[in-house]
Amino acid sequence: MARRIQTVTVVGAGTMGSGIAAHLANSGLNVYLVDRLPEPAMDKLPHGASLDDSHVRNYLARRGVNAQLNARNSGFYVPQLADRVIIGNTPDQLGEFVRASDLVIEAVYEDIGVKREVYSGIEAAMEPGTIVVSNTSGLPIAELVEGRSAGFVEHFAGMHFFNPARYMMLVELISHEVTSPEVMSALEALARERLGKEVVYANDVPGFAANRIGAYPMAILFNEYLLEQSVEFLDLIFGKHSGANEKPFVTADIVGLRTLRDVMANLSRRLPETDAGHGAYKVPPYLDEMVARGLVAGPQGKSGFYLGR
Ligand code: NAD
Repeated sequence: MARRIQTVTVVGAGTMGSGIAAHLANSGLNVYLVDRLPEPAMDKLPHGASLDDSHVRNYLARRGVNAQLNARNSGFYVPQLADRVIIGNTPDQLGEFVRASDLVIEAVYEDIGVKREVYSGIEAAMEPGTIVVSNTSGLPIAELVEGRSAGFVEHFAGMHFFNPARYMMLVELISHEVTSPEVMSALEALARERLGKEVVYANDVPGFAANRIGAYPMAILFNEYLLEQSVEFLDLIFGKHSGANEKPFVTADIVGLRTLRDVMANLSRRLPETDAGHGAYKVPPYLDEMVARGLVAGPQGKSGFYLGR
């Protein structure tokens, strides 16, 4: 029988981390959710807010829970389930939360340096045997764990939820050479039996299966057509009029433009030059500029393609 996971720490309370935390709470698990400390210049704190105040220190995790509560399609089955998510921030609570957890789900920026720094904090606190997964969209799992101890590496895998985490059925599981089979069975049991998801096993290649293939048409649209046509026109053509369920630029705003930019950049950098994706995933300069100006959409940003151009 697969090992039972009951208590989970989610690190990163953005679009995905807050959504995953909400769905874990829906499914009866004990959930901790942490984010970094807010930065006054970047995070638009209320006037007079001080980092001496614990509410301010937990501001980003609270914002993530609120975003799930207030979303048109809420991440929680009922609002009361938000009380099951205990919030905190990485410097103050990561150690305590990780020590109490069977599983840690990392959902911070799609940036290998930021993720590795988070793993170092997790490794310092975790009990032997704690499972750690990344929700990365496609950074190689083997690269993420470079430099970590054998115990950490054996208990590490990719667990790729889709957005929004409550509603999207698929979870990709990605092991690497030395991930223990027991870890993979525990993750599969969690995904299928507790969270009600369908599981596919993907290889540890850039973008895994879903993003390597699924993001391709979107990347072509961004690079080939956007400067010629409006997003409204392209969404009309490539949304329901071409048989797709979703409008590509509405989807981009839901994903969040920072994440989208990072996913494209990683794919372009990591795919061989002979692969068509190498050029297709190149980040167009306007997307970099929108991210630099904070026009990132998602729960964190005010505007993306639809309001920010
Ligand atoms: P996001 O930008 O919405 O959220 C990332 C969160 O991480 C932010 O709240 C940020 O403050 C926090 N963070 C950054 N550094 C931190 C640190 N050192 N400690 C604690 N928190 C920190 O990003 P997202 O879209 O939720 O993506 C998270 C991960 O999930 C990425 O790896 C991404 O590729 C993946 N993913 C995203 C989507 C999507 O549709 N957005 C879908 C599937 C997977």
